[in-house]
Amino acid sequence: MTKEHNAHEVAASTVRAEAASGYPEQGVEMHRRSWPRRLILPRPAAGDRREHPVVIGVGRRAGDRADRGRARRQGPDPRVVATAVELARAGDGRRRPVTAREIAARYGISRTGGYRLLKLARKKDTSTMTTTAQTARDRLMTRMEQLFANDRGLGVLTRYAEDSGLTARERKMQYAWVRAFATIHGGDRTAVVYRRYARQRQKEITRTGLTVGDSWKHLLGGPTAPTAWTRDLYTFLCVHCGEGFSCVLIDGTERLCRSCAKRETTPDKAVPLWQAVSLNELAFPGQFRSEQKTKSRFVRVRFNTDGQECEYKLGEAGFLFEEITTTPYGPGLPNFRQIGADIHGDGRGAVNATIQACAHNKDRSYDIIATFVYDPTPEPDESHPYGFRLTGACLTHAGRTTEYTDIHDLADALITGLYDVD
Ligand SMILES: [Zn+2]
Repeated sequence: MTKEHNAHEVAASTVRAEAASGYPEQGVEMHRRSWPRRLILPRPAAGDRREHPVVIGVGRRAGDRADRGRARRQGPDPRVVATAVELARAGDGRRRPVTAREIAARYGISRTGGYRLLKLARKKDTSTMTTTAQTARDRLMTRMEQLFANDRGLGVLTRYAEDSGLTARERKMQYAWVRAFATIHGGDRTAVVYRRYARQRQKEITRTGLTVGDSWKHLLGGPTAPTAWTRDLYTFLCVHCGEGFSCVLIDGTERLCRSCAKRETTPDKAVPLWQAVSLNELAFPGQFRSEQKTKSRFVRVRFNTDGQECEYKLGEAGFLFEEITTTPYGPGLPNFRQIGADIHGDGRGAVNATIQACAHNKDRSYDIIATFVYDPTPEPDESHPYGFRLTGACLTHAGRTTEYTDIHDLADALITGLYDVD
């Protein structure tokens, strides 16, 4: 037999790992009896949530009196404050969108470092500098500005694979983000906000005086449109023929496809249209109104009390539903699987959802437990209930658990963690 387990022999790293996961990895010896993993591990499966204090609502809260006298968090990084000011100026249209590359160059740090500063500044921007409540469209716009900042968007002139300004990894992550947007916000809101962003970027391109050039040969044409103009809800198609995707801007207002543009004007008067690398995926919900209806973002719930069924809009919870996240272009997250969705509440009005899911890519795997509360209030300019809003999520990776309260931050952690691998 091995010698008796004794507190002095346990490595600090083991204690930290077990404290994070809540369960001993190797089993534990207690009162001279050994408790193997197979007895301990079924507990979380049976609903034991002790390792997720935010979810079950226990533990010491931030600002607790018992924490008095402890070391405070350090003051804000001045670079973050300066970046937040730049972001606010960009938000008001007083400067170009702020990019990680620009921040990295300014402070002489890596691009990843620049991105981290940008992310911190964005948080600062929304939590302390913005006083008015943001709409879902505003929050989505903020994320799109971040996501598309480095995308040159001139795919009509240059082939994206070679000259989008993005690395293969950045392109992959942009696709993942766009799918995440559609699952969190629905195709409609995503397409509406994308259109608003694209028009904003278009003004920049128009201002620089860029045109197609001396020959129509420079114009490659956008993705082909597989549908009729009557289903073009978000005006991605040519305004003349309604058959092809528009790829140039004429006279500052007319959005035409390649063949109509050729008939109407000369290449030196045609301004190329800005389009994200991932446009084909974004355009999809705008093109197919009928398909949108069949791809419902509702969940049916049967109440135990009276056996009646009610429908609830998924809202942000759509991010963690397999059938929603799997798009015609692929899954939202690699090897994503929903383990369980438990919808419960005191009555019709007060409904909560707890969703357990997992995803993995190569050697990285994530376990997700997220709780949502149902919000029946529609957003401005929208006619349906908002749906489930995230209240808290625990993401466990390599024995470490991190908590999130913002759905975009959760998506960020998952997309970065799962796609940012070699
Ligand atoms: Zn046309």
